Amino acid sequence: MMFGLNFRCPTWRKQIFNFYSSGLCCWLVKIVNLSLKFISREFFITIGSIMEAAAANPLYDPLELTLRTEGLIIKGNKRKYLRFGTTPDYGTGIATGYVVGCNLRCLFCWSHETRDDLDLVQDYYSPEDVFEILSDIASMHPRIDKIRISDGEATLGFNHLLELLELTEKSHLKLFVVETNGILLGNHEEYARELSKFKKVFVRVSLKAGSPEAFSRKTGATPESFFLPLQAIRNLRKYQVNFGVSAMSADPRFMDPLERISLISYLGQIDPKIVLKLEEEFIILFPTARKRLEKAGWNVNNYQLPFYLKGPWKKYLQMSYRHVNSLEKQKLSLRFTLKNFIQLRHGI
Ligand code: SF4
Repeated sequence: MMFGLNFRCPTWRKQIFNFYSSGLCCWLVKIVNLSLKFISREFFITIGSIMEAAAANPLYDPLELTLRTEGLIIKGNKRKYLRFGTTPDYGTGIATGYVVGCNLRCLFCWSHETRDDLDLVQDYYSPEDVFEILSDIASMHPRIDKIRISDGEATLGFNHLLELLELTEKSHLKLFVVETNGILLGNHEEYARELSKFKKVFVRVSLKAGSPEAFSRKTGATPESFFLPLQAIRNLRKYQVNFGVSAMSADPRFMDPLERISLISYLGQIDPKIVLKLEEEFIILFPTARKRLEKAGWNVNNYQLPFYLKGPWKKYLQMSYRHVNSLEKQKLSLRFTLKNFIQLRHGI
């Protein structure tokens, strides 16, 4: 018995025979065939074009990605933000606006999912709104005298950033930290010139790799774009902008000694002093970073942050890049944990 029909019943078999031999069946078969042909044609056209595109250009150009991203996160002088809060970085702690959007796709990136899905957030903020929120947060803590934007690329929507810097310049705040991957500062020399007009700016260029091939492997970008952050450093030097360089070079899981030597020699060619002051960082495997690495098939070992917090605390407690010397053998630091808790009241 199936669906209440007895297939052994001769009447039923006769009905099926009649149905097959009827015109209705022919029409149905034709419709199904045509639909299948259409679906499979569309399917293969789509898959074919994706594969063709991937074969033609398997790596993306960060400058093209910049334009596409800016189209989705910038409206006039407004930019999309995910949230605002504080982190205990930069000695005194820093009020932070978490922006949406980046022009790289680093595999070890800990940024929120908004990096890849720009439509997850629809809240646009003007520079005035952002400045007001960040200075309010900073004023809640007597030690915090710096602000920044993080979680994405700060130089996207450059005018938004310039307006923020202008507001900071006129305020009581000491510093605006521009954390950047250096792609746009390398491509647009004039951006570095613009930044040189501000006294309260500190630009922190974060280098991801030590060679063009490694850069492609870690970011998915074209190998040539490896040279843009290095050019950014030259531009910043040329216009005497207050800047520093950090690199994801202290973590042997992501940079082997040869790549590190290559990175150091590239930097040494620009200025040996940069090598001496280089902030070498260790990659902290936040869940987002772990997910991205696993998705890319990167062998992530079981190293876990000793005091990563889940649930609602996650929103307020954030550990971000720290100088490698402060990692204290990756042990739980009571001082740092307390510092995080102190920051709690500034989360909004
Ligand atoms: S690590 Fe920084 S530069 Fe790389 S994708 Fe994430 S936000 Fe962008």
